[in-house]
Amino acid sequence: MSTVLGYSPNARIDKTLLEKFLRLPLPEDRVQATYIWIDGTGENVRAKDRTIIGVPTSIKDYPIWNFDGSSTYQAEGSNSDVYLYPVATYKDPFRPGANNVLVLCETYKHNKEPTESNKRHACAEAMSRAADQKPWFGIEQEYTLLDMDNRPFGWPTNGFPGPQGPYYCGVGANRVFARELVEAHYRACLYAGIDVSGTNAEVMPAQWEFQVGPGEGMKCADDLWVARYILHRIAEEYGIVVTLDPKPMPGNWNGAGAHCNFSTLTMRQDNGIIEIEKAIDKLSKQHVRHIQAYDPKGGQDNMRRLTGHHETSSIHDFSAGVANRGASIRIPRGVAEDKKGYLEDRRPSSNCDPYAVCNALVRTCILDE
Ligand code: ADP
Ligand code: MN
Ligand code: MN
Ligand code: MN
Ligand code: MN
Repeated sequence: MSTVLGYSPNARIDKTLLEKFLRLPLPEDRVQATYIWIDGTGENVRAKDRTIIGVPTSIKDYPIWNFDGSSTYQAEGSNSDVYLYPVATYKDPFRPGANNVLVLCETYKHNKEPTESNKRHACAEAMSRAADQKPWFGIEQEYTLLDMDNRPFGWPTNGFPGPQGPYYCGVGANRVFARELVEAHYRACLYAGIDVSGTNAEVMPAQWEFQVGPGEGMKCADDLWVARYILHRIAEEYGIVVTLDPKPMPGNWNGAGAHCNFSTLTMRQDNGIIEIEKAIDKLSKQHVRHIQAYDPKGGQDNMRRLTGHHETSSIHDFSAGVANRGASIRIPRGVAEDKKGYLEDRRPSSNCDPYAVCNALVRTCILDE
């Protein structure tokens, strides 16, 4: 959405007023819960709140709920109820207080089948069958900040910033924009219980990255979805828009990805490099399956990003190499030296569904499907 105001109305609200109300003691047996789900686009999150009576002690204590799926591209108006099945909880950084929670949910249709955009169901099934290999994932989420006119935040209105070079891991007012948002997000995620492992400014100005993981099984993908929710919510307060579009600026500007770092128990053990090479061989035979799973439009979004330029490989070819940032799969230098560790799949788009990515990696590399 763009606005004739040229600025976000949210940014003009005095944020300190809410603090008075956040300090009000609530009845001890009342919990504020924000139920979060992925909508029919497969890339946007939705959320709504409810009060829970009594303090839950396990995920099963959170009631199954529902929403109007005809308003989220998930159902017809004539049969609109979609179910929310709670799957994981996080501490709510927006509502300090011991028991307030974010409740990540899966979506199910009226007939109790997963909705089309519920990629978690199949992923969890694969993870349970691959559990003895203890798959770990670490995802690098790149994203771009925009102003209300969809221009990268901090860019001149008429014209462009200087060419890429000084911005990656940059420091200084002419190199990075909105660091406070990034810092707020980092701390809010750690508070929530998300395993954020780091953050950095990216190659294109107004582009940033945070990393989640390594997390075993479903943990990394669950964490990433909640980290995205927290990012959009904090940006809302600043009046800044977050886009996960993989190529927000055409031309000589880097796109945005979600590199997925992956390992199995065997890869992490001595001489695990042999297993890493086996996995790369399997991946080389399933390139199309992976491209289809690595953005929400079956590869169309990545068409704009995986050009073979700007530290990407061509969408049409599979390649792998040590320390090669122009390959589909990179073996980090340290992994090659240690002869064990993990591989980095550089193909997933910034707006990928991490459930679809982790699912494809496990099915190709562990389950041999
Ligand atoms: P890059 O050099 O590609 O920018 P980053 O430091 O941004 O790398 O991210 C590396 C990611 O790899 C982190 O998310 C980290 O959690 C993850 N990682 C580290 N070790 C493993 C492992 N053994 N298995 C899976 N992921 C791992
Ligand atoms: Mn209503
Ligand atoms: Mn990185
Ligand atoms: Mn990066
Ligand atoms: Mn990377």
